[in-house]
Order: sequence, then C-alpha cells, then structure tokens
Amino acid sequence: MISLIIHGGAWDIPDELVEAHKLGVSKALNIGWEILSNGGSAVDAVEKVINYLEDDITFDAGRGSHLNADGEVELDASIMNGSTFRCGSVAAVKNIKNPISLCRKIMDESEHIFLVGSGAEKFAIQHGISICSQDDLRIEREILKWKSIQGKNGFSTKDAFKFHTPAGTVGAVALDSSGNICAGTSTGGTFNKHPGRVGDSPLIGCGTYADTSIGGVSTTGWGEAMIKVVMAKTVIDLMEFNNGDPQAAAEKGIKILKEKADGFGGVIALNNRGEFGVAYNTPKMARAYINSQMNSPKILI
Ligand code: ASP
Repeated sequence: MISLIIHGGAWDIPDELVEAHKLGVSKALNIGWEILSNGGSAVDAVEKVINYLEDDITFDAGRGSHLNADGEVELDASIMNGSTFRCGSVAAVKNIKNPISLCRKIMDESEHIFLVGSGAEKFAIQHGISICSQDDLRIEREILKWKSIQGKNGFSTKDAFKFHTPAGTVGAVALDSSGNICAGTSTGGTFNKHPGRVGDSPLIGCGTYADTSIGGVSTTGWGEAMIKVVMAKTVIDLMEFNNGDPQAAAEKGIKILKEKADGFGGVIALNNRGEFGVAYNTPKMARAYINSQMNSPKILI
C-alpha cells in the first residue's frame, strides 16, 4: 500500500478561487504520487509536494504568503519522519523560497530540530540552500491587502481569517512502499501577524506529527488555538486509541479544538494502513488524496 493526502488550507475559499485551489492541490498530488509510485520515499514525496504548493501563489506558503504587520513575509514550516522520529522545523524565516526543503536539511544534517530567523538562514547558506529576497516572496495581491488595513486599529490574528483572500497553509502526509510515514506543513502564517509571531505549523505535535506505527497528521487553521490543544499529536493519539481510524480521530480532534480553544481549522490524517481522515470546521478546505486501492485521486474543496 502507498498513500498520499495533501491540503491547501481550510478557510472560506471564495467561489472564484476554488478552481485555482483544486488545480494546485491536484498538480501537487500528482508530483507526490509519481514519486511514491516509482518506489520513492515518503519524505521525498512530502518535500516535493510542498515545494510545488510553496511556489504556487494561490497558497499562503512560500511566494505569495501573507505579510506581517511590518509588511514582510515570514515563513514557518516543519517536517517529520515517522520511522526515525527525526524532524526539522523553521520559523520566522524571511529569505528562504522553499522553507520545507530547509526543514528537510535540518532533519537530515543537523543535530537540532528547530531553527529560527537569521540562525535558520545561516544554516541554509552553510548547507547550500540559496537565500532569496523579500521581493522574491512578496506579491502585489498581498501588498495591496496589507496596505488596505494600515491605520486600522484592533485588527486581530483571528480577524485575518475573515478576509476573502488566500489563506491556505499547505501540508502533506505520505506512506511509502517500505511502510514509512512522513508529514510536513508550510505556511506564511496569519495575515498581519506581529513580527516574530510563530503559529502551529512549525511546531512538532501542533502543525505536524508522524509515527509510522500509527499514522501522520498535518493541520491548518487558527494557529493560536491549534497550539493550545497540541492538535497534530492529539489526533495521532486519538488514532492510536481508536484502532487507527483516521476519520474518527480527525473529527474528534476538530471537536476538541472547538470546545477547548474555540478554534477553527482543518486536519488531514493518514493511518499506517494508508486510510484517510479529513475534518474541518471552516466553510471549506482544499485537499486531495489517493492510495493504491483507488483508481483516481479525490480532489475536494
Ligand atoms: N495555521 C497557520 C498559522 O496559524 C495558518 C493557517 O493554517 O491558515 O500560522
């Protein structure tokens, strides 16, 4: 069994952006599926899927991400190998085009797990990952949106989700032919966040978790609430104790998120049998999945 599930954010995706989201997750899924079908690793599949989504300006990851209150892009990401328990995370990086690849480098080549800001960028340079400029990451759509709220007081992170503009964090979970599970998540975070604000996405256990003996999870949504309920690991634990049912675990996770933290967002889960779970309490969630028992992928918003 090989299996792959990916997401492109959970929010109120307006009708005119639905096609772009479907196209993005569909193309990214194909890239990952090709890797897994050719015997490639779950880690490679997750990295390459997320690279594609980071480069697609439809999504709030890599180029095209939301700007923070200073008008800058600051990116967060994480990856976890569920067989070795090795992980890599970065937060508040301003000059990295594909943060998930920097996470992978940290996972593979560092004794550390989590690097932030300029230290993460220094590690990137030392390990052959090139640095980009803010102009490579900032796009006009986001600059105009940021300008439109300047001078308005009381704009909170939670309010950011009411904006009908792209808010899609991206994530992927893969099971490869050797039975390994990997999960990863990448985001520009919330619109107009305080400089230095870090959300759930780069936090192992909140935005991303993988344990090959159980499954893998990637989350998206209001990060402050996700952190409070340690969302990704909570869903993994629920799977462990419900005989590995990823759908029931995802649904229960979203219920906990709402009840305990008044949170909103979405979660994708994959168990070690290659079965899927998806739950969200936002109006929409962009996601796509396929496993070796399916004839064609499911692309859903
Ligand atoms: N969870 C992300 C954050 O709070 C945002 C999102 O998923 O839309 O940084």
